[in-house]
Amino acid sequence: MIIRASVPGSVRLVADLLTVEAALARVLEHARPLAAEAVSLWDCAGRALAEDARAVVELPPFPSSAMDGFALRSASTPGTLRIAGRIAAGRPATRPLEPGEAMGIATGGVVPVGADAVVPLELVTDREYEVHVEQPVSLGANIRETGGDARRGETIAAQGAILAPHRLAALAATGVATVRCYRRPRVAILTTGTELRPPGEPLERGQIYESNGVMLEALLVGAGAVVRRLRTVVDSLEAHRAALTDAFADDVVVSSGGVSVGPHDLVRRVGRELGVEELFWGVAVRPGKPLSFGARGATLVFGLPGNPVSSLVGAILFVLPALRALQGVRSPEPRFHAGTTTLALARNAARDDFARARLELLADGTASLSPVGGQESHMIASAAMADALVHVPRGGGSIAPGESVRYLPLDLASGA
Ligand code: AMP
Ligand code: MG
Repeated sequence: MIIRASVPGSVRLVADLLTVEAALARVLEHARPLAAEAVSLWDCAGRALAEDARAVVELPPFPSSAMDGFALRSASTPGTLRIAGRIAAGRPATRPLEPGEAMGIATGGVVPVGADAVVPLELVTDREYEVHVEQPVSLGANIRETGGDARRGETIAAQGAILAPHRLAALAATGVATVRCYRRPRVAILTTGTELRPPGEPLERGQIYESNGVMLEALLVGAGAVVRRLRTVVDSLEAHRAALTDAFADDVVVSSGGVSVGPHDLVRRVGRELGVEELFWGVAVRPGKPLSFGARGATLVFGLPGNPVSSLVGAILFVLPALRALQGVRSPEPRFHAGTTTLALARNAARDDFARARLELLADGTASLSPVGGQESHMIASAAMADALVHVPRGGGSIAPGESVRYLPLDLASGA
């Protein structure tokens, strides 16, 4: 795809840059769900079901009382009934209820054979050996019918459903102990750059602290990946060859740095040499332009730019959706929210921008976004002031203060 961008006084040709949408579509074409595996309910929160999960038992499994009260025959009310026993939850009566009798019953207790209604404690006078029921009790009152919530064999959560906490409870309640989920992707994270040192060690002149690794690991683990953290490599062909060869054992490789056009940018070159088919390089986005994506057999290979904010944006826009798609999530695309900007945002004719902004959730439930100072792609410390990435779509003019924008939250809980 070719995009013509107008620059004052000239027409610049920006060749071979995919739009964000086209690049994402290409990534998702190659991110097919991984194999399914059986997983305990306790270990599948947040994952997608690889097949329908069906009720093993009826729910409730027996006619159960909705109230603390007395089980009785509605035809015996109003009146005074002999108390034939008291039923706790989990301890059913040992004999049926006879006409003229009542049995004390707890919420969740088994309604005894012969009873057809439960009257709540609040509506009776309990005289220890007999109970007085003032008002008539209607047939079926306060009884939860067998299978009233789910029938045996009924689909409780369909293939593709995300195992959110309420669905886990529904499956547990209907007797499901294990479900089939798509396997979590194994991801190797490889940071590149001779200048990089781990935080905690002293810096020599020319060196900076390696910061993409910890960010990428947090993002990817948050999206369900099983991460393997490789040692940072120096900018040499041998080091890149060894590290990439190792990384290709995983389902996904995410590298940072070394994907630009400099003589020390070796990731794409060594990738190609080792059999990576490059599917694109360059996206019309800022920050994050020189991102590369390819495949080597079944392994997806993302080359994120080294500038920390470029790495962040590239991971959120492309790697996280791929991880979700590999796990069978039906709508794996980035999860935009709606808000308004407090400042004007200039649009660029040819590329989409993602501005770092502080997020304020207002009392009426709307979100207000204030772009932070320091929007350059190396300014990760300035980005720390932000809570969200605001999407500034390509086009003319600018977005005025108070206008609607879409944003991606940066905290893990909101799941960009
Ligand atoms: P590169 O894409 O390798 O040309 O790197 C672009 C810029 O990002 C350079 O200033 C690098 O020093 C910096 N950089 C690359 N990788 C990292 C990293 N893992 N952590 C922090 N900065 C990085
Ligand atoms: Mg580098």
